[in-house]
Amino acid sequence: MIPTTPYWNPLLETMPREKLSELQLAKLKRVVRWGYERSKLYRRLYEEAGFHPEELKGWEDIAKVPMISKEHYRQAQAKEPWPYGEALCVPLEEVTEYHQTSGTTGQPVYQPDTWQDWEWWSECWSYILWAMGFRPTDRVFLPFGYNVFVAFWAGHYAAEKLGCEVVAGGILNTEERLLKIKELRATALMGTPTYMLNMAETCQKKLGFPARELGIKKIICAGEPGASVEGTKKRIGEAWGAEVFDHVGATEVGGWAYECTHHPGGVHVNEAMFLVELVDVQTNAPIEEPGKMGKIVLTAFDRQAQPCIRFDTKDLGMWAEDQCTCGRTFAVLKGGVLGRADHLTKVKGVLFSPLAVEEVVRALPELGDEYELVVTKKGEVDEIILKVELLPAYEAQKERVREELARQLRLKTNLNYLLEFHPPGSLPRYEQKAKRFKDLRPHA
Ligand SMILES: [Zn+2]
Repeated sequence: MIPTTPYWNPLLETMPREKLSELQLAKLKRVVRWGYERSKLYRRLYEEAGFHPEELKGWEDIAKVPMISKEHYRQAQAKEPWPYGEALCVPLEEVTEYHQTSGTTGQPVYQPDTWQDWEWWSECWSYILWAMGFRPTDRVFLPFGYNVFVAFWAGHYAAEKLGCEVVAGGILNTEERLLKIKELRATALMGTPTYMLNMAETCQKKLGFPARELGIKKIICAGEPGASVEGTKKRIGEAWGAEVFDHVGATEVGGWAYECTHHPGGVHVNEAMFLVELVDVQTNAPIEEPGKMGKIVLTAFDRQAQPCIRFDTKDLGMWAEDQCTCGRTFAVLKGGVLGRADHLTKVKGVLFSPLAVEEVVRALPELGDEYELVVTKKGEVDEIILKVELLPAYEAQKERVREELARQLRLKTNLNYLLEFHPPGSLPRYEQKAKRFKDLRPHA
């Protein structure tokens, strides 16, 4: 059995970094051995790479441990026992929880968890909630359609573990959820940044009063990078009159990073439970210096049914220069997740991240919350269409807003856009992961 660590252990969160590094190495060796001995997937992956767990002696050996990707899981899961196949590290009868990835990038990955793993999920989410100031006095409302996706299930159990009162707003529609929050005087919320904005908009439109009157004090965002985009975070905070926190997690990994009440301009990595590496997007060479963008590679140290060991997330991040003032020694990823390596695409020969556009749109008060980004090819030339919603109060100033938007976009992304103004409320609204970026070029 892989033993779990106790939640919110200040000894771990403030551990001197040399000690933390020793602990991490010991845990890494243990989980690498676990994967090799317990799953055909890791056994084959390591044998094919000519690697044996005995060779992992110090940090200098880490590059010898092969990375794993979603694709490896998909192939292994096509085998027996259904549906986890050769990725499984425990007998099937020990699995108590089923979840899956959203499948936005292909066949979903199935995620088994044992009961111990499920307690581990609550454990890692307890770090998240505690750091954001969740306490037993909070009444936490979850405006979330409970289903096969892990998102917020773990948050639900962790909030209970901390002693908060939890209200499941599962089957209700947005209006009903808002009314329930009002009725119960909930103090905290969890949701995607997109849905938090969507709810606030609905509150004003359908119920006739601003969401800030509901008395929500804390909002924890997850599922999309939005809450670390300054403009988006500010919008959510203002709409709700609440403090907004970002968190990062994934089904295959766990809830591995979070913002604390000191808002260090990014997220703390839970280094007691996870190893977070940054590697060069092209060469996989390790990146340790702050301020340099790399791909995030993750290991969950203590998860047993289907552990991820050096999992290539294809997410982008960079280390912050300084330690946070809160006292946690856990490293900070500046700005949270900075986009997807596979969304980082060349448009008109310029390296382009759709997240930079969100930053611009959300910073302009004349524009609504939603936008859509479409890249197409006209003849031989790439064309980017940006659809935004102009708020009715600014209708007369359309041309000024257009110029300002174009100027900001050039400044931040070095590109020109075809700008389309749509009526407020007409672009698609999302409850979970938003799909605002569409690359319609033939090769894409
Ligand atoms: Zn901090």
